[in-house]
Amino acid sequence: MSERPTTSEATTLEDDTVLAIEDFCVDYGWGDAAVRAVNHVNLSVRRSRVLGVAGESGSGKSTLVYAATRLLRPPGVISGGHVSLTFDDPTSSDAKRRTVDLLAATPSELRAIRWSQVSIVLQSALNALNPVLRIGHEFDEVLSTHRPGMKKAQRRERAAELLSLVGLNADRLARFPHELSGGQRQRVMIALALALDPQLVIMDEPTTALDVVTQREIVNELAQLRARFGFSMIFITHDLSLLVELADDIAVMYAGNVVEWAPANDLYGAPRHPYTLGLLNSSPPLSGERRELVGIAGSPPDLSQPIAGCSFHDRCPFAFEKCSSQAPELRVLDDSGRKVACWLHDSPADVPVALRRRPRDATRVGAQTPSNAEGVV
Ligand code: SF4
Repeated sequence: MSERPTTSEATTLEDDTVLAIEDFCVDYGWGDAAVRAVNHVNLSVRRSRVLGVAGESGSGKSTLVYAATRLLRPPGVISGGHVSLTFDDPTSSDAKRRTVDLLAATPSELRAIRWSQVSIVLQSALNALNPVLRIGHEFDEVLSTHRPGMKKAQRRERAAELLSLVGLNADRLARFPHELSGGQRQRVMIALALALDPQLVIMDEPTTALDVVTQREIVNELAQLRARFGFSMIFITHDLSLLVELADDIAVMYAGNVVEWAPANDLYGAPRHPYTLGLLNSSPPLSGERRELVGIAGSPPDLSQPIAGCSFHDRCPFAFEKCSSQAPELRVLDDSGRKVACWLHDSPADVPVALRRRPRDATRVGAQTPSNAEGVV
């Protein structure tokens, strides 16, 4: 078995993985009071692809991504696993890629990587933008900090160019955040995240506070930006139907575990986990006839208490005896690489019809990357 790359090791990798999360665990609190929020998660993001992470509030999706990028603050504690980031090395003349162990990286190494290689768009642009600074100041600060060689005029030109990428006029640089609409503020955040051409952009529910029309416009724009610049993306949301329009692959999280992973169209057209089915039934369909929405009964479990068996069994309409005593593991289900953690699939003949449908195409927006047909994590 090859050794894990160290922080400073440069390699020429054939693999196109950008972010690799392995056996990753995150707790809140310490010792006996620790609450496991992310439980032995394995996920990866490949070059130019979009990984969607879906689940209700408290499922662990934001904790997973913030901890993996070392942005989680105490009492959040990384309690196990490995996370590595691989990117084209800007200091290399022969197109080498560099792999960094994010959990071992020093503060100065993290500073060099953040924004340049990994950037983030937060849920509330109004909270993320400084209310007493003009928009232009935000761009100027990022560019002068990370590109000290840039002159003021060049920074101004770059800021205007970034705004035009997200459909905003350069005159917005002179405005304060409160002078922009919610959609314009979120576009500013996206433009800021792209300022240094990062290879991975993390979107943490970037459209949650917006109306559905603006949500769709921004998702469209993100799809086009991704196709144009080729960055990879992690898109976190509770809205599965929104994800299906943008993501190549989707991981569904529940109670800190990934309970289903699949290519986006497969998951949307034919969910295999009862929780995924519940999420889809509670979202409006993208196309076809209108149907009545059905919520998922009950609430997510209290993670501070021990959970016996499958963490979804209290809410699952298909639960049977084994579910309340033994926890299913995430296992590969079929040739597409789809993974599901559910005992139902141990006996294919007994799988309910609702979890046996054949995958079909969903309506999607934006261009697909050539690698989209390749498949799986
Ligand atoms: Fe439902 Fe049992 Fe599957 Fe859990 S393992 S999702 S309780 S059927």
